[in-house]
Amino acid sequence: MFAEVIVDVPAFQTDMPYTYRIPKEFEQDLMCGMRVHVPFGNGNRLIMGFVVGFQDECDLEEIKEIQEVLDIAPVLNEELLSLADFMKNSTFSFKISCMQTMLPAMLKSKYEKFIIPTDESASEYFNGKPDLSFKEVQENGQLPLFLRLRKEGLVDLKYLATSKETIKTERMVRLLLSSEELSKELANVRVSAKQQKRLLEFFSENERTIFSAKELSTEGISSSTLKTAQDKKWVEIFAQEVRRNPFKDAKILPTSAMKLNAEQKIATEKILQAADEENSKVFLLEGITGSGKTEVYLQVIANVLEQGKTAMMLVPEISLTPQMASRFKSRFGDDVAVLHSALSMGEKYDEWRRVEAGKAKVVVGARSAVFAPLENIGVIIIDEEHEAVYKQDNAPRYHARDIAIWRGIYHHCPVVLGSATPSLESRARAYKNVYELLLLTQRAVNGAQLPNVEVVDFREEFGQSGTNIYTKRLLERISEVTSKGEQAVLLLNRRGFSSFMLCRDCGFVLKCPNCDISLTLHMDTKTMRCHYCGHEEGIPNSCGNCNSKRIRYYGTGTQKAEQELLEHLPHLRILRMDVDTTRKKGAHEKLLERFGNKEADVLLGTQMIAKGLDFENVTLVGVLNADTGLNLPDFRASERTFQLLTQVAGRAGRGQKQGEVLIQTYNPTHYAIEYAKKQDYEDFYRKEMGLRHLAGYPPFYFTVQITASHKEENLASKAMYEIFLRIKQSLSDTATVLGPSPKSIARVNNQYFYQLLIKYKKEERLEIVLKEILEEMQQESLRGLTISIDREPLSFM
Ligand code: ADP
Ligand code: ZN
Ligand code: ZN
Repeated sequence: MFAEVIVDVPAFQTDMPYTYRIPKEFEQDLMCGMRVHVPFGNGNRLIMGFVVGFQDECDLEEIKEIQEVLDIAPVLNEELLSLADFMKNSTFSFKISCMQTMLPAMLKSKYEKFIIPTDESASEYFNGKPDLSFKEVQENGQLPLFLRLRKEGLVDLKYLATSKETIKTERMVRLLLSSEELSKELANVRVSAKQQKRLLEFFSENERTIFSAKELSTEGISSSTLKTAQDKKWVEIFAQEVRRNPFKDAKILPTSAMKLNAEQKIATEKILQAADEENSKVFLLEGITGSGKTEVYLQVIANVLEQGKTAMMLVPEISLTPQMASRFKSRFGDDVAVLHSALSMGEKYDEWRRVEAGKAKVVVGARSAVFAPLENIGVIIIDEEHEAVYKQDNAPRYHARDIAIWRGIYHHCPVVLGSATPSLESRARAYKNVYELLLLTQRAVNGAQLPNVEVVDFREEFGQSGTNIYTKRLLERISEVTSKGEQAVLLLNRRGFSSFMLCRDCGFVLKCPNCDISLTLHMDTKTMRCHYCGHEEGIPNSCGNCNSKRIRYYGTGTQKAEQELLEHLPHLRILRMDVDTTRKKGAHEKLLERFGNKEADVLLGTQMIAKGLDFENVTLVGVLNADTGLNLPDFRASERTFQLLTQVAGRAGRGQKQGEVLIQTYNPTHYAIEYAKKQDYEDFYRKEMGLRHLAGYPPFYFTVQITASHKEENLASKAMYEIFLRIKQSLSDTATVLGPSPKSIARVNNQYFYQLLIKYKKEERLEIVLKEILEEMQQESLRGLTISIDREPLSFM
């Protein structure tokens, strides 16, 4: 018997399965979707691979053998294996990368450096072991020996796949004695054996017969005592799995279903009907902020579970913690598995295995949770479907929405896309009846209204307040609202915004040495940091060009915004939420909990405060800089600005109290801001569609972006130009190509980036040509050129 294996070498030559002989001992149990270690290449280094098929015969002359089988059951089931094929083709990526993307990090290949003897005489130096981990040799102080042997050509270094224990276990102790036996031993124990006596006493005082070794050690019973007790057959010691439960310490009270209003009811019934009919149609649930979309999701899922099926719900990373997750936990308890990046690797793996084993029937998670190994799915929901985070921005560049729709078809179940501000793509599909539109037009809480929105023109107000971050009007409103005991949320829009250091004498701007981008000031660590490559340096006190001391920091960070607000309203209690204050695990949750407990008057933060927050005491939302994102050279700039403003406005007035929103801007007449003021998605949609049509952008055209990067600028641009000529030749008249041009940040990490964008309606040959280009360019990759293809890129700049 022979197995076909996709090996962990992401390259064109290796994207097809390789054939390996299956050793007798594995023949019975080996299945498709299991991971194996196989020798690969001339040096036969060991790498990981996935079994994808079997053959009875093989006419290859020299055939290698599978060395090790890592799983007792497949980690990728039949569905996910065929999804990998779809993904590979639709995202122009390697099958192995697609397969790895679907699995929790703990199951991805790990490679460690090993020392391999290349000559028999070398083995004896390292205690005769055939291969030895380099780390071990280093730790043993044998590095000089290794270096000497390598110089003589007796040993070599290789990366080999390693498989580590991924399950967490705990040492448990079980009492083997009956109570009579226990009393007898206790009576007989020697006076000098104090510890053994203590152990016997402890067990006779307790009903329980199983304890963890850790519990016993806090009782003063050491592991050597346990060893003795084991030898005497008093106890047995065994390992037991410990579940790493992300909700271990959470206090969650159960909740029950609410009575739905008329619109919610219609939406729920339509979705459930499709689920009943096993109809894989796609719904667009367009509901204003606070209209009760989540309650619809919860009730649809409850119903699907009653039918014995499972459910999946995706949310943007940031809005998952903690409110959304606890809403699901409180309704479905341990049936819910949560998968997102704030979990530890172990927690993620354990949650994943609960899904895989069928113990968790509802998955709530961020983008990659779309690959959760659920069987018999009854509904798939994507909340805030317009969010850019659903598209992965490195290879494989998949969009979770496309994967969800594929899985919906596989499982014959409906897919629900929910948003207050749908992506233009999805809304256009609903308009054409490709998706079915479901509308929620009212806030769900009785009497709750959308907030009043006021736009303040920064140009008129400028200088009046003595700060260029806050207008007088906003300061007044913050002061008024907070003095009533109500709370305010302030958004500092980070998109398109940077703070930089400028010399007032010579105009010098402090830039990153590796990238064409200015460094950003971080007060907390007292450093200037590059947000692209991570470069860090100290804050200079003079100009690097002319030595002048007259340097200034431009732009507003959240720290500066906090500081200035305190200067004007010193009594305010402010919580700041940004990358710096939420870096620690659980920090995000704690900040929100404190705000929810009214321990602060103001929550000031970046984009991460815009989504999902549901605090009824928030009556004022202020947007400090509405238009920074509008100036970006990106055709989605208006859409993003409108979505952000509508989302953040939706945080105000969610309870009985009327909310208000104040938007500070230099562009009060820009349509994205005017429609956000009206909170009118439909009008925005019509206007933006008109503009997209004129300019020939999605959703009227499909787009593909090609990027080339190289250390040498001329090689990057030359490659891009060659690609441009080839593409141009193969396209029809209805397609256009923008570029080639340097990217707006042309150099990152010392690599130069060039790009082009193809806009087209229908090009039958395009796919083939793109694959050819990728394949040919693979040869070039040896010379340091990287080409990537991005279908439907989310930004082009
Ligand atoms: P969305 O997801 O559309 O922003 P949510 O589902 O968060 O809206 O609902 C907003 C608020 O309305 C929540 O506090 C929720 O508990 C409440 N709510 C939802 N549906 C109902 C209902 N049918 N009756 C009363 N309150 C509701
Ligand atoms: Zn200077
Ligand atoms: Zn940099």
